[in-house]
Amino acid sequence: MMLDLSLGDQAAGLHRGDFSATELATACLARVEAAAGLNCFISVMAEAALAKAKAIDKEKPSLPLAGLPIAHKDLFCMAGTRTTAGSRMLDKFVAPYSAAVVERLEAAGALALGKTNMDEFAMGSSNENSHYGAARNPWDPERTPGGSSGGSAAAVAAGLCSAATGTDTGGSIRQPAAFCGITGLKPTYGRVSRWGMIAYGSSLDQAGPMARSAEDCALLLASMAGGDPRDSTCLDAPVEDYLGALRQPLAGMKVGRCPALEAALAPEMAAPLAAVAKEMEHQGARLAEISLPHAHLAIPCYYIIAPAECSANLARYDGVRFGHRCKAPQNMEDLYKRSRSEGFGAEVKRRILVGAFALSHGYYDAYYKKAQQVRRLVKQDFDQALGQVDLILAPVTPQCAFRLGELAEDPGALYQQDAFTIPASLAGLPALALPAGLVGGLPAGVQLIAGPCQEARLLAAAHQVQQNTDWHLLRPPAFGAEAGAG
Ligand code: GLN
Repeated sequence: MMLDLSLGDQAAGLHRGDFSATELATACLARVEAAAGLNCFISVMAEAALAKAKAIDKEKPSLPLAGLPIAHKDLFCMAGTRTTAGSRMLDKFVAPYSAAVVERLEAAGALALGKTNMDEFAMGSSNENSHYGAARNPWDPERTPGGSSGGSAAAVAAGLCSAATGTDTGGSIRQPAAFCGITGLKPTYGRVSRWGMIAYGSSLDQAGPMARSAEDCALLLASMAGGDPRDSTCLDAPVEDYLGALRQPLAGMKVGRCPALEAALAPEMAAPLAAVAKEMEHQGARLAEISLPHAHLAIPCYYIIAPAECSANLARYDGVRFGHRCKAPQNMEDLYKRSRSEGFGAEVKRRILVGAFALSHGYYDAYYKKAQQVRRLVKQDFDQALGQVDLILAPVTPQCAFRLGELAEDPGALYQQDAFTIPASLAGLPALALPAGLVGGLPAGVQLIAGPCQEARLLAAAHQVQQNTDWHLLRPPAFGAEAGAG
């Protein structure tokens, strides 16, 4: 069935004429509808997707992603389309222009099926902060798909589309990828343009691909990456041939593991890590011990810096220019207060308050400046470690997908979920999550981290593992190839 094919195989099928872009898009849209209970999408764009598919069938452009249906996290602006960022604040916001990521993927021929569910303004690790209700994990709908790019991860895992975009500020591509059993890459900070991506923590935000395999992530990243003068932090470095590089063998690679980081892991989560390490060794990689002495400070450091940046970024939602506006404001202050009180959810408010406090006169040095100094130390740890090894192998999450509601009342416990993803975010390094088998019937992932702009190395390492193993082929029982729908 065409929906069970990888993105690359879908491209080949379209090329050979096994099926048309219209047939493929129609099948995807039927599955999206059948899986509405997973709440993966905030907006489905059936008409636009079918119109584009029809045009592609007619013109048959020779583009790398021609006719391939994908989904976009609802954090990317799309001209003429509702873009909510999972927030009531932007419930009626129709973007006047498209994000660079959307533009580039469209120019490569991809067609957008819709906009996926997410934690409000990308703040969260469970999708429960979405104004539109949490997306659900196709492996067990009572569980979270992770967050904040949970809708994208769940959609790919359930086979509603073969790939999706996500964004990652502190783990939002990698953690949902791990919880849903798919592959997700957070590129180097600046590798992909942030233009048109609704801002959360601007020194950390980065867009990336989510798909079943590293190969499909490479296919998507090839179209997403590259310089952009509209984002001053976007890197101009040449974009590597990600697909060509997949052949790069693991033999001779030195892979670092950090025992102190892994010490906090539940024993059942050690097995997937050991299995991937063993496979890498089997292919000729050498394992080495590294140390990241400041990684344990990453959570407090991030939860100062990200809220500080969010408090500045979210100041623009004042009820005046765009976004939610309260009814019948009495005066300017009333307009600001009520629009913001009504438009933002509890977690976003918490972070704006924390951030404004950390940046305020008299506390700036104690919190924000200190956090920036710790961030430097975390980065230096990685610089040193990556001077000794080619790649780092690490956990993604402390455990598998937890139950919806389980941590909802305990923000601190939810923040702890990000312990393994935040270090690479603070250091701006590329990091990839790949599936590594099931633990108690739920997917478990592992993480690979590399030096700046070494996405090709990460994708190749993951691809080599996936060539020899079938963890990335496992499907949620209710949405597997045998489940038949579509
Ligand atoms: N869970 C982290 C947070 O809530 C990371 C979110 C993200 O990467 N966007 O900030």
